[in-house]
This record gives sequence, C-alpha cells and structure tokens, in this order.
Amino acid sequence: MNDQSPRHGRNEPSSMFFWPTEDRPMAARGEGIFIWDDEGRRYVDASCGPQTTNIGHNNRYVVAAMRAQMDDICFAFRSHFKNGPAERLADRLADLGADLGLTRAFFCSGGSEAVEGAIKLARQYAIAKGEATRYKIISRLPSYHGSTLGALSLTGDPQMFGPFAPMMQTHPKIPAPFVIERPDGESEDAAALRYALMLEDAIIAQGAETVLAFIVEPVGGAATGGLVAPDIYYEKVREICDRYGLLLIYDEVMCGSGRTGKYLAAEHWNAKPDIIAMAKGLAAGYVPLGAVLARGDIVQAVDDAGGYAHGHTYSAGPLACAAGLAVMDVLFQNDLIANAAAKGQILKAKLERLMDEFPFIGEVRGRGLMLGFDVMADRKKRIPLPPELNAGHAIAQACYDRGLIIYSRRMLGGARGDHFLVTPPLNVTSEEIDLIIDLLRQGLSDFAPTARTAMP
Ligand code: PLP
Repeated sequence: MNDQSPRHGRNEPSSMFFWPTEDRPMAARGEGIFIWDDEGRRYVDASCGPQTTNIGHNNRYVVAAMRAQMDDICFAFRSHFKNGPAERLADRLADLGADLGLTRAFFCSGGSEAVEGAIKLARQYAIAKGEATRYKIISRLPSYHGSTLGALSLTGDPQMFGPFAPMMQTHPKIPAPFVIERPDGESEDAAALRYALMLEDAIIAQGAETVLAFIVEPVGGAATGGLVAPDIYYEKVREICDRYGLLLIYDEVMCGSGRTGKYLAAEHWNAKPDIIAMAKGLAAGYVPLGAVLARGDIVQAVDDAGGYAHGHTYSAGPLACAAGLAVMDVLFQNDLIANAAAKGQILKAKLERLMDEFPFIGEVRGRGLMLGFDVMADRKKRIPLPPELNAGHAIAQACYDRGLIIYSRRMLGGARGDHFLVTPPLNVTSEEIDLIIDLLRQGLSDFAPTARTAMP
C-alpha cells in the first residue's frame, strides 16, 4: 500500500538523500511494460529502469513464488544454513555457464558487489597460483562498472571519481572500441584489431607481471550506449589475455540475463571469459540480487588455498534466490530470450529508420534488446552536439512528458556527446514496440528545433 499522507505527496521535501533534484511523480503500480503514477498517468517503461525489470513489472508468477518462499523462510545466514533456492539457482547458472566453463556461482545483492566479488576472486586466484605481483585491472574508457570504491576505480569516467579520487587505486584504461570513428580507408575489422592491440600495449607498458585482469562490458551499457565491437575484437582480446596471463572478466551486470538474445552475452562469441559479473536482470528488479559466475578451476584453486575471502550479509539469501529462480522460469518457459533476439531486430530497424527523420541521431547500436543511439551535430564527422544543449536530458524529458521512459547518459562530461538506451522488457510485443517508436518520435520532434541550431 502506498502511504498517501500529505508529507509524502508530490512536491513535498524528502527525508531521503540521493534523490533526483527534478520533481518526479510517485510510482503507484506497475504491470508489464507500464507504470502508473499516483494520479493515474501511465508511463511506458522502455528502459526497464536501469535495464533491470527484464520480464516487466509485477509478474504474478514471480510474486507468487516470492510469497511462497516468504511463507517458508525469508532469511537464513549462509554460515548457519544452506538453502534450497540458492543451491538451485547456482545449479541453473552453472548449467547455463557450462559451455563457457563457468560452473561456480557466488551470490550478492547488486552489480557493484558483483564486480567487487569478481576482482577479489581474480586477485585471490593470482595469489593461489603464486603470482602475487598481479593486481592491476585494465578497463575501458568510457565504461561503467559500479559506484563502490573498487568498482568505481575500474569505471572509465574520471569525472565520476570526483572527491573520491585520492581514496581509490588507479587502474589503467584503454579506449573503448568505437570503430565507427575509424579513419577513412580503414576497415571495421582493422579498427577493431587496432583497439584490441591497445590492450597489449597497456599490458606491456604496465609490466605484464603486475596485470591481473581485463574487465569489459561485452555489450556496452550506460557508458557507451549499446556499443558492440566486431567479432574479431573479442577473439583478439582473449588471445592477448592468454598470452600475458590475464583473466578476462565480462561485466554482464546490464547486458546479461538474456537481454542481448543469449542468456549470457558471452555466448555470442567463441572467446570465453574466465569470470562474469551479473545483477540487474538476474532477479529483474523483484529483489536485489547479483552473482559472480566463475570458471570451476579458478574457484577450486582459491578454495584449495584457504577459500574465497569475501562475502556479504545478504549473500545467497533464500528469498532473493527464490525470486531469481522464478525470473529464470519466466524467461525460459516463455522463450523470452528468443523474443529479445527477434524483437530486438525489429526495434533496431525501427530506430534506424528514425535516422532518416532526425539527422541528429548519430548511430543506432546494440544487440538483442540492449539497444542504444547517440545524438550528434554531424553524423558523418561524429561531432557531438554542444554539451550546453543538454540533449540527453532534454530528449529524455520530452519523452517522459509524453509518457515514455528511455535512459539517457552523458559520459566524460559530454565530450563523447549524449546517448540513450532503449531497453524494453524481454517480453515486449510488436504493438508495444510501435507505441515506443511513436512516443519516441514525438520526443525527438520536440528536440529537433534545438538540434538544428547546432547542425551544419
Ligand atoms: N556494471 C555495469 C555494467 C552496470 O551497468 C552497473 C549499473 O548500472 C553496475 C556494474 C553497478 O551495478 P549496481 O548499480 O547494481 O551496483
């Protein structure tokens, strides 16, 4: 039940901190792709929040499964008890990861925790192997890996470090592979190889014996708006990691759990990561849940050397894992991963068609329903709109005002321009895609006169 007391009405000050400064309505109810506010206004959630509610809002099957688990037990501490939902969810993840050799799972409560868990596992594995000099983790610029200090130090956006910079270990970064910005005459594959070889250069510059891992979002999220590199990039990166003894960590917090049209985004390529960080879609917003999925021999080596020195109070809680299991049931029983692949193609084609109407759309990118587009003053020359136009905010707000929620992001202070993620739930229908495109067209039309002021 919502508390509708005047103290908690619209436009009232909040006792919470870290809350948007702009006024937002009260969420009252959700169902499928829709959210209604407390005044009955309907919003199309084409963003799934931050790419989280992957099976839509208030799925009755998941709610019933959670209720049944709550009737049995909500919490049992892992040092005191094993619990069925956690064991079963780990088994299912191990099955799904088996072809990649990823057969052991650790549970936590979110993406930053999963990234922290992944890098701590990597570090302990290096020590167990007698390679204690390895501690640096190379990541990409831009990238987003979370907000806790460890995960933030991997995040490729120094502006986000802000006041915390002195508190963090700085890790090396290499450019994210925006092959679209390659010089004339260079092929996409050649550009992808060039970007992959930057990893080798960075390893050599750092001293290979000090480098532990390379962490990468295989399909980019908040930082790069759906960036996918040509296949050759993934293969070359794997080869370089092997050559220099680095672990390859995929951050699938946003792109995992079926969103790209495979349960694990890593399944798109032959190159296999050693560790995957997951969250968001894993329990699809029904409860906080994250996971680290790792190669069995890595976990075994760490176990043999004394065990994984990491954990959280809520690790592998029965309620969270029961919700995660129910979300997986919904995904697989309804073929939602195949739907993500098929509907992703339709949505991507429709977004690309919008480029004809709106010349300020620079590029549409992504895989499955992990789709994004950026906006540019000059599409061909890849010149971003001036940061002061605040295109990201302006377009997302215009859409919001028309009842469509998309996700906008500006990284590196706007130096790369603004981009958007259009990431509806994996059970989105064709009619809902038409509705999204219709509302998005209206939002983009609102912004078009502003964009024209900055275009050649
Ligand atoms: N990694 C990626 C790729 C993300 O997109 C995010 C969040 O957006 C995180 C990590 C951090 O996850 P959380 O916000 O659950 O801590």
